[in-house]
Amino acid sequence: MPATNLSVKQVFSAKGALAKAIDGYLPRQAQLDMAEEVHAAIENQHCLIAEAGTGTGKTFAYLVPALLESKSLENKKVIVSTGTKNLQEQLFYKDLPIIKKALKSNMQVALLKGRANYLCQYRLDLYQQTRGQLDAIGLQDLVKVKTWSTTTQTGDIGDLVDIAEDSAIFPLITSTVDNCLAKDCPNVEDCYLIKARKKAIDANLIVINHHLFFADMALKDTGFGELIPQADVVIFDEAHQIPDIASEYFGEAFSTRQLFELCTDVQQVYRTELTDVKQLGKAADKLLQSSQSFRLLFPYDPQRGNWRDKHQQQSFAQGFRDLKVDLDFLYQVIKICISRNEAIDNCFERTVNLLAKYDIMVNTDAFGLSFWYETTPRHVVLHQTPLSIADKFSAAVVKSNAGWIFTSATLAVDGQFTHFAKQLGLVDAKHLLLDSPFDYYQQSQLLVPRYLPPANDRLRAQALATMATPLIKASKGACFLLFTSYRVLNQVADIFSEQLDMPLLVQGQMAKRKLLEQFIEQDNAVLLATASFWEGVDVRGDKLTCVIIDKLPFASPDDPLLQARCDDVKRQGSDPFKQIQLPQAVIALKQGVGRLIRDVNDQGVMVICDDRLVNRPYGQVFIKSLPEMKRTRNLADAVKFLQSLS
Ligand code: SF4
Repeated sequence: MPATNLSVKQVFSAKGALAKAIDGYLPRQAQLDMAEEVHAAIENQHCLIAEAGTGTGKTFAYLVPALLESKSLENKKVIVSTGTKNLQEQLFYKDLPIIKKALKSNMQVALLKGRANYLCQYRLDLYQQTRGQLDAIGLQDLVKVKTWSTTTQTGDIGDLVDIAEDSAIFPLITSTVDNCLAKDCPNVEDCYLIKARKKAIDANLIVINHHLFFADMALKDTGFGELIPQADVVIFDEAHQIPDIASEYFGEAFSTRQLFELCTDVQQVYRTELTDVKQLGKAADKLLQSSQSFRLLFPYDPQRGNWRDKHQQQSFAQGFRDLKVDLDFLYQVIKICISRNEAIDNCFERTVNLLAKYDIMVNTDAFGLSFWYETTPRHVVLHQTPLSIADKFSAAVVKSNAGWIFTSATLAVDGQFTHFAKQLGLVDAKHLLLDSPFDYYQQSQLLVPRYLPPANDRLRAQALATMATPLIKASKGACFLLFTSYRVLNQVADIFSEQLDMPLLVQGQMAKRKLLEQFIEQDNAVLLATASFWEGVDVRGDKLTCVIIDKLPFASPDDPLLQARCDDVKRQGSDPFKQIQLPQAVIALKQGVGRLIRDVNDQGVMVICDDRLVNRPYGQVFIKSLPEMKRTRNLADAVKFLQSLS
């Protein structure tokens, strides 16, 4: 039967198209339920918010109806947006080919990654002319890039597997929105990024990520703004991430990195082509110095804080004014050089843009916005973020005449979608809550240990390590310890390095992917990590049988964006704890807990080292939002359970 005539039910049935294409395929009712709701949302152009517990098979549940739909009508356009590059690749290279084969579909599909994933030939050529500073490893990497650049078809730097992900070469051979010359680029005809975008625009189904989606929606990248107006279906996987990402793109940012890159590019133009304009070099040097001095006003360690407060201090206000003086000077000098070449014209545009952003960041009295900063060892970024994007986002949804699907394993709080829907203004969306098919009650145990000192007690790390040791021994390693702060993580890591006779892997020792590979390779490893391991990590079977969470993941009350949002809710007469802090923490905890049971045969112990789960009334909201596990407060029970697994 041609795929266009197949119903969703037929495809997912025991003898359907998927059963014929996949060995060991078993129909799952929850998967079919979701697929039918997705199909209805596409047909009727409405919004669906669907939480599908781990193991439901949600990827197939949205891809099958999307493929059936776009095959049935000419020129249909489907956008599938995921949270990470890894998930994008898994969808594109693994899941889509299986479904296309099962449905005998020859539909055009494309994978579009962010700009930083594509080789910029213009910048590679430019770099080779000027030969900036690179150490020996950087130079070796440059040779590898040059060799590869002569053969690559896609320019996807992910192919350069033997270059470290954090190599200094990558920023030099990829473009940013700021430094891309776009239509004025001498390499525009062969530009990999432009080719990839063109392919995406021509395809029926595009796999992108949330950052790209919102760059398009907020018109934050040149050549964008083309995808969303054409979409008939928009599907967000890992949708719990989108309110924060969307806020970022509907806001503004001004960073010393942008100033640094501008100065470097101006110096490069001065050294290679405009050697007669001595003031160019001077102006760039001056701005570079003032931006370095501005960075030094902030502490060295990574930090987030309130820019509105900082700007009221004399030293910060003066440092920021100094930047403006030097940026103005650079603007005056570059203005004289306009039209002498494309690169200097691009620098002029960036200077104008930065001056406009300066005005935004200096006007800290503006309403409805949060002004905050974050630092890295070398740079500081100032942000202006809207407190709510609900109006803008919902207006775009209404205007689109498309079907919108929002799915994730963690969207609901205590069975309700109010928190998620409110953030995006999705008041009329349909809701669907599908439990995981796993039998958590039989497969797992939840331990909330007694007698641990409070989170800020100086003996806390030692007590955590002492409590965790018998569990780790009983599970023979195969354990994750997930922390909410680096401070406690490092303290526990120090204690374990002296007391624990098992391979210890600590976040920061190496790249995340490598750390996970090592964890899986070594049978009895223990991994200590923070935020980035709370989600998107899939370790199955007896490789991971114990997950220990140090405390409930409430966001830091010092977070300036959170503070601003809480003040806003308070002004509206509501309770910020109930409206914002609690739901956010519940979603984060659900993600962390989701690391333990990944398959029908997985078994293990989940440990949450926070009394508030059982002692505070709001603890019930967490408990009711988690899968139903067998509960204990007795460490010995959990040890016994782990011993029984082996
Ligand atoms: S158009 Fe932009 S990304 Fe493409 S080669 Fe030119 S500068 Fe690089």
